[in-house]
Amino acid sequence: MTFDLHRTALTGDTPGATTELYWYTAGPADAATRIHLQAALHADEQPGTMALHHLLPMLRAADAGGQLKAHFTVFPSVNPLGLGNFALRHHIGRYDIETGVNYNRRWPDLYPQIADAVADKLTDDPRANIAAIRAAVAAWIDSQRPATAIQHLRLLVLKSAVTADIVLDLHCDDDSLKHIFTSPELMPGLQDLADWMGVAATLTAEDSGGGSFDEVLPTLYRKARLAHPGRPIPLGAETATLEYRGRADSFDSIGRQDADGLFGFFAGRGLVAADPGARPAPAPAPTPFEATEVLRVDAPGLLAYRVELGDRVSKGQPIADLIAMDGPDAFLARRPILAGTDGFVLSRVSGKYVTRGAGIAKIVGTNILPARAGAYLLED
Ligand SMILES: [Zn+2]
Repeated sequence: MTFDLHRTALTGDTPGATTELYWYTAGPADAATRIHLQAALHADEQPGTMALHHLLPMLRAADAGGQLKAHFTVFPSVNPLGLGNFALRHHIGRYDIETGVNYNRRWPDLYPQIADAVADKLTDDPRANIAAIRAAVAAWIDSQRPATAIQHLRLLVLKSAVTADIVLDLHCDDDSLKHIFTSPELMPGLQDLADWMGVAATLTAEDSGGGSFDEVLPTLYRKARLAHPGRPIPLGAETATLEYRGRADSFDSIGRQDADGLFGFFAGRGLVAADPGARPAPAPAPTPFEATEVLRVDAPGLLAYRVELGDRVSKGQPIADLIAMDGPDAFLARRPILAGTDGFVLSRVSGKYVTRGAGIAKIVGTNILPARAGAYLLED
């Protein structure tokens, strides 16, 4: 039996405050493939935790049956520090309440940290190059002296992820259909994951600008490759952010379905020796994230949506009416907020009172939008 629970203490930044990180490992320690799964890095996003709650017993049963062919590390709720951030009866799970830093931004740019250490270790063997880069990152992490609990947590998580071949970071949107964010080079390789998840969209970006967790490893390998064009350096990990619908979509029935999807993906890859069952219908092909419009309002007001999730819309079509909450026709006037592209409605906001500049919908199109090309793509 290899299915184990681990508890790691994170010494707090205030007297007496220590937080425990709970995580599981399963599968042969010497397996050729290592998998890192985590949920709720944004600690107020529970659908991923629900999915992993249902996946863990499946992994435990597969372990008992000797069916695990990969080593799994699972952090069902990877950010216990964020679980503790409450203010005025609201859970602030997205940001470090002390610094305001989004937990899924400003992950380290690793290549500059290891460039010197790997420079003379790269060879013509791609697997050895991945191993050399991983070893250098592990050594760099070990050399760090985290100054705060959140730095400690980030280094712990990164150390697990950097040794993994598949790194999946489970999130959710506000009110949304399932989708994936990943690097363009990883598609169509991860199309099987998209199919098993049953996503409405896979959105790709090399660098969405925020240093999000799923971009740390692709950026590391991409920079190593650019610095050493003569050496074969594959992207050493398949990484993705998995968006499991909206924040309120945490239910057993959905979580079980999501766990089945993940298990099917692993079984389909031979990482669990189990019958994956019939592969689901193909999910849509990936589109550049720069082709997804984040539709914003230019005034505060009350939203009255005119579309449902999944609706196909055309450029110029009203997505919502914005009811004025000030001015001469306050609470009488309403005007349409128009789609800026052809596509389908991937997400909306659940809070219908919005401030000026707020994003109110993501519309997944196929044509790169001039305002998005090369821009900061994420919402903070
Ligand atoms: Zn998130």
